[in-house]
Amino acid sequence: MASLRPWALSALLGLLLSACASAGSVQDIQPGERPDLESDEAGLWMKMDRVEEELVSSGRVVEDPDLNAYLRQIVCRLTPDYCQDIRVYLVRTPGFNASMAPNGVMTVWTGLLLRCQNEAQLAYVLGHELAHYIERHSLKHWRDLRDTTTGLAFFRFATAITGLGLVGDLATIGALGGVMAYSRDYEREADQIGLALMQRAGYSGAEAPKIWDYLQREKEAAGSGSGFIFFATHPPSDERRDTLSGLARAQGGKGQVGREDFLRLTAGHKAAWLRDELQQRDYARLEVLTQHLQDSGFDPGEAHFARGEVHRLRDEEGDAAKAVAAYHAALKTKRAPAETYRSLGLVLWSMERPGVAQQAFRQYLARQPRADDRAMIEDYINQLN
Ligand SMILES: [Zn+2]
Repeated sequence: MASLRPWALSALLGLLLSACASAGSVQDIQPGERPDLESDEAGLWMKMDRVEEELVSSGRVVEDPDLNAYLRQIVCRLTPDYCQDIRVYLVRTPGFNASMAPNGVMTVWTGLLLRCQNEAQLAYVLGHELAHYIERHSLKHWRDLRDTTTGLAFFRFATAITGLGLVGDLATIGALGGVMAYSRDYEREADQIGLALMQRAGYSGAEAPKIWDYLQREKEAAGSGSGFIFFATHPPSDERRDTLSGLARAQGGKGQVGREDFLRLTAGHKAAWLRDELQQRDYARLEVLTQHLQDSGFDPGEAHFARGEVHRLRDEEGDAAKAVAAYHAALKTKRAPAETYRSLGLVLWSMERPGVAQQAFRQYLARQPRADDRAMIEDYINQLN
């Protein structure tokens, strides 16, 4: 677990020490509204403005203009009145997460787009985050904590949550509003408002509970130390899914699912995003994810390759043979990535099958003549002579 960046820690301390405003009742934020400069809310905004600057210069924001315009258009369709107040950042990070900071900064992780199957599911999650903004949940949560815990307890709580599973630059992203788990009440409220927003915008509400259903499966498979921050801040549960299903049914009517645009705009990125997930090496969770992708219309060549990688990297009893089978399945599709041959060569080599390993490495170089690792692969081929 990486330590917090010093500024993130001081941001938390700053919040802890900021002047006490009266808790009072907190109204929904109005379109275009900015907090009073003297208020604790303005303090929260200022901290988050700094975090936003860090994020922008982090090199992790995905720059694809079409995809960014698409995300922005969904936000504006969900909440036309707040369209100008929200800034959306797509952040290259594995794992399912989105967060909403009180100053209008919304972050969406690429791992979230990887797991959504269509625009309606994405719209539901964005609607949930927008509900946190409109309802001012960050401010309410901050005041709840300030009023109900001792300073030290709050500080310990805030640092514990912020440090949870955050590595490197994830501290920056995690500090953006989503760091502190909201109470169940705020979550329930955001679920319901998120659903109402998506349905009002014309999306099919029946897609919303499917997300929780999938996340529940991934959570069950996840190792206990998986550090999946979204599970900590948004515990998936049967109750959550069932409540949403009931509400979606009650509203009735069919809405838009939006599969084509969603798949078209994300298709070119998904293989890279899946490789980010592989690096997490939470194998049981990855098995659930690769199966989910295969069921969701993900390129079968890529899906089989990823499954092979899960087995190759896990490297337990029987994994080598399963990896080889998965790579062969990928190659049969004719659309497997060139790396399939490289990985196949590595596994066959470990199985002491030098002839076929060498052949696989040669095929890799034939498919990828300008590969960055060409010298290394040529060296492998020589060693196998
Ligand atoms: Zn939430």
